[in-house]
Amino acid sequence: MIARRAAFRHPAGEPAPRTALLLPGFKRHANTRAFVPAASNYRWLEKLQEYRPESIAGSLGQLLFLASLRMAGMPKLDSVTHSLVVTFHTEQPWLTLEDRDELWSAFGVPVYEQMYCASGLLATECIAHDGLHAAKGAQWTVDANGELWFREPLSWWEERGEAYAPSGLFGAVDPEPCECGQPGIRLRIAGPVQRQTLLRTRALSAWAQVA
Ligand SMILES: [Zn+2]
Repeated sequence: MIARRAAFRHPAGEPAPRTALLLPGFKRHANTRAFVPAASNYRWLEKLQEYRPESIAGSLGQLLFLASLRMAGMPKLDSVTHSLVVTFHTEQPWLTLEDRDELWSAFGVPVYEQMYCASGLLATECIAHDGLHAAKGAQWTVDANGELWFREPLSWWEERGEAYAPSGLFGAVDPEPCECGQPGIRLRIAGPVQRQTLLRTRALSAWAQVA
């Protein structure tokens, strides 16, 4: 859930493909339409199919659900010829290779990853599929244990000072330019921090800040 009405920016850039957004909280934008998945009926799926999206953006769970339905032949969603966009929040399960395979066998289109926090976009993959670009205004750093920490882009966070929050992901910050031409750093995510390691890492970080 996005706390502020953020704009959805398609990872492929502009002009964006016709995109179905399965997530609440985004501003209205040309070439995107929001759909509210309902557990109680499949009317939203009919509407989704009628829209003929070229790309679908949603949480990993939502996209895997659509993939399983498509493998079973319902709905067809043959219009999805551009991409899938997996959006996730920090601390949510990261996309595994198995998940990628499942999405690929169901749809056969590229998968992009985008990371959000409550106030909006933190990082997004680009057409080069070579790491995630830090979103405008978001700051990223890596602690001594290799966990990525972030500072949210919007001003309400700045009132809390320069505080960074742990992302729950191991990775590196790459300053090298991307072949897509966008400036700025990229995140190279190695995988989720295991909970036990996470607690230990945070304790160590807290200790390091005090010491
Ligand atoms: Zn790029």
